Amino acid sequence: MRYISTRDPKRAVSAADAVISGIAPDGGLYIPEDPDFGSFDWKALLSEDFRGIAERIFSFYFEDLPGIPEIVGKAYGPRFDTPEVTPLKKVGDRFVLELFHGPTSAFKDVALQALPLLLSEARKVRGITHETVILTATSGDTGKAALEGFRDVPGTRIIVFFPDGGVSTVQRAQMVTQEGGNVCSVAVRGNFDDTQTGVKQIFVREKAEGLPGTDAALSSANSINIGRLVPQIAYYFKAYADLVKAGEIRVGDPIDFTVPTGNFGDILAGYLAYRMGLPVGKLVCASNKNDVLTEFIGTGVYDKNRPFYKTTSPSMDILVSSNLERLLYFLSEEGDEPVSELMKKLTETGRYKVSPRFLEKLQALFDCGAANDEEVADSIREVFTKYGYLLDPHTAAGWHTADRYFEKTGHTRPNVVLSTASPYKFPQAVLEALGIPHGSDEFEMMDLLSEKTGVQVPYNLSSLRGKEERFTDVVDKEEMYAYVIRTLEK
Ligand SMILES: *Cc1c(COP(=O)(O)O)cnc(C)c1O
Repeated sequence: MRYISTRDPKRAVSAADAVISGIAPDGGLYIPEDPDFGSFDWKALLSEDFRGIAERIFSFYFEDLPGIPEIVGKAYGPRFDTPEVTPLKKVGDRFVLELFHGPTSAFKDVALQALPLLLSEARKVRGITHETVILTATSGDTGKAALEGFRDVPGTRIIVFFPDGGVSTVQRAQMVTQEGGNVCSVAVRGNFDDTQTGVKQIFVREKAEGLPGTDAALSSANSINIGRLVPQIAYYFKAYADLVKAGEIRVGDPIDFTVPTGNFGDILAGYLAYRMGLPVGKLVCASNKNDVLTEFIGTGVYDKNRPFYKTTSPSMDILVSSNLERLLYFLSEEGDEPVSELMKKLTETGRYKVSPRFLEKLQALFDCGAANDEEVADSIREVFTKYGYLLDPHTAAGWHTADRYFEKTGHTRPNVVLSTASPYKFPQAVLEALGIPHGSDEFEMMDLLSEKTGVQVPYNLSSLRGKEERFTDVVDKEEMYAYVIRTLEK
């Protein structure tokens, strides 16, 4: 498979090159050159376990990378706390796909345990000897998962930027205590979009003037890297295979997925699974109060000119969902505005509108909904009270959205709600939802939550307590480039 930019379909690159550079030279995102995945034998996946599924999918997308079986074996081994990797649980009238069993208790581990190994392999294939420097902007979970994934991977270094005050205490603790000789995290004065924009500008500047004083080259671990996106396709098939095995559906029956969405990476992986043949009824996009995607899917207008809210589901506090650009490319047709034009409008005016034809296609496969903090809390309480199952706030936004979706359409197909984080990453919001009084220490909150619910705290979180803080720098967004240069000189 070769890859083209969403903004210039004429020049294709190999998978190795797409993984190494992360973003296309024109600022676009890499997508498969031939989106006709009809040749893919998706039914062969149904008898496989997670690793077998991942191996087949990786081999399909990264055919120029040898060593895929080793990569899959390393990525999805004992660092996950269950051999199932992404178990599917029946909770009430739907299914919860638990994506948080990796080393940082966030769904991003599924992709970020594999990406560094894919990148290493891609470097080998291309004979690269200079250092690859990963720059990542994070709204909380990506940062830690990326640090953990790249930690001491030879030939790489990683710098993670997170919004100062924009992540939870536990998320911050995870990042500033990170171990490893090639890692660093730094806080940025601003919100996630400022942080992400800052990182994008560093990439643009590197293209123009290189990185003075070093022969290192930048790459990205954000969900814009195709090597981040592809591993996520695996669990859509895994969930389907589990439903077949459990006798809930027969092969070919369509199912719905409800996806708590921020940067649109997770749900886009679902779209790719659909294009590869997975019988999907609807992909239901769940937002929080930052409901820019809900409006887009409902009306065809993308408008980021709106207040930015900090919510109890911070990993979804996003106004510019980068991966949507890939969907724009896939769904647009001759006569529609080119993706580069839409993105130009977004940069210049913060807004664009797609054609009625485009909107029709979008709505044929996607539904949407949003949950405010109160609705998120209601879902956490309701699901725990009724089923004894503890949702994190992001997953609860999905649960609420699925409720509204059932009300609107009837519950006609099995619905899989993707669970994107352990509730223990957000203990305060979960305790408050359950009406349990608590103090101000997040680690004590974890213990309290465990005591009240009987659900165990993942070891990777409980062991953060009292760990030494290695990274305490805070920078202005204008200083980010200089910070990278300084760090690389060291
Ligand atoms: C990153 C994240 C999301 C959003 O995923 P996207 O791929 O950015 O849409 C949702 N929930 C949690 C807990 C996350 O960390």
